[in-house]
Amino acid sequence: MKRKKTAERIASMGTSIFATMSKMALEYNAINLGQGFPDFDGPLWIMEEAFNAMKSGKNQYAPSPGIISLRKEISNYQKKYYDLDFDAEKEIIITAGATEALYSSIMAFIQEGDEVILFEPYYDSYPSNVILAGGIPKFVTLYKPDFHFDANELEMAITEKTKMIILNSPHNPTGKVFTKNELEIIAQLAIKHDLLVLTDEVYEFLTYNSEHIPIATIKGMKERTISVSSTGKTFGMTGWKIGYAMASEGLATAIQKVHQWVTFAVNTPAQHAFAYAFSRLPEYLPEFRTLYLNKRNLMLNALMETEFKGITPLGSYFIMAEIPNGKFLNDVDAATRLVKENKVATIPPSVFYSKSDEGMTMLRLCFAKSDNTIINGINSLKF
Ligand code: PMP
Ligand code: GLN
Repeated sequence: MKRKKTAERIASMGTSIFATMSKMALEYNAINLGQGFPDFDGPLWIMEEAFNAMKSGKNQYAPSPGIISLRKEISNYQKKYYDLDFDAEKEIIITAGATEALYSSIMAFIQEGDEVILFEPYYDSYPSNVILAGGIPKFVTLYKPDFHFDANELEMAITEKTKMIILNSPHNPTGKVFTKNELEIIAQLAIKHDLLVLTDEVYEFLTYNSEHIPIATIKGMKERTISVSSTGKTFGMTGWKIGYAMASEGLATAIQKVHQWVTFAVNTPAQHAFAYAFSRLPEYLPEFRTLYLNKRNLMLNALMETEFKGITPLGSYFIMAEIPNGKFLNDVDAATRLVKENKVATIPPSVFYSKSDEGMTMLRLCFAKSDNTIINGINSLKF
């Protein structure tokens, strides 16, 4: 075929850094502190519930927006933990991971020429989704070491064409948790300029000595916010790919229109299992949170024995670590040499920045790993 086959909109798209680094970890037989997923299993009782669902014939298509019992459980926990009211029938859509919730939300609202504000470092699917929708990503930097943003820079990034701000808190890759004050600044600008806010809260329950505040709880925000989360993080089962989008009815209806043509419906037995899992959230969460707090501290302490300087995360399961001066050309050089020579895979975060160079002096490390993997992985950062 002579004619160019691929669509223009995918011209700028390469392979995700997570897939690239996991592949290298396998190739070089390296410890994988790169891609964000637990290397231990989620609860057995959730797996048993999925099997029960399969055995009782829950194996055909679910309703497109998801089974009602799961949507009700999500609505209940949003009320219980955040005092947010989402109508289970009309305002919650179950998707193939948070990834699909983000994609379907961006496709539902962004069209050719619309500008979308992203904080950098960003989760890599955001700019790609915006570009797929024909939109234009605009970047606002989170500056280290505390990853704060400049409110002026944010306001200056807003133009007549701006349609949406994408927020992620707790934040991947920095571990930042946006404060109430920061959320109020974003909210005030969103209201003033009549913008939508798409908030990715997949690490909502992974906070350490800090509080996760959904931006939808800030006055005037509920009607303009689309909130996204995922069972992959909350129950440590990323491979089951069950996520969800929550928004007021008008917005949710638009997202559902896209969702029906992307996946139509997602895995039925897993939805049943997670409906049960959410019903046990209050008894499950304390142990889960302690597990990750201990892993975070283990990695931070282990890092102190190396020349890499960990930046204490307040949320998520990632630590950004400063690369020792003069040892490497940049983060990509460090990540490449570490996986090949030291047999430890990390993520070079410069790929999550479009404006600032700040990512070039850090590496992202994932601590959702067995204690042995954490200790051996961090030991491998020594020279
Ligand atoms: N958003 C963020 C910030 C993430 O870190 C991830 C996955 N690690 C996702 C979305 C995707 O979630 P899911 O696996 O449920 O698609
Ligand atoms: N979100 C995971 C991370 O940050 C990776 C998910 C993926 O590979 N798509 O590492």
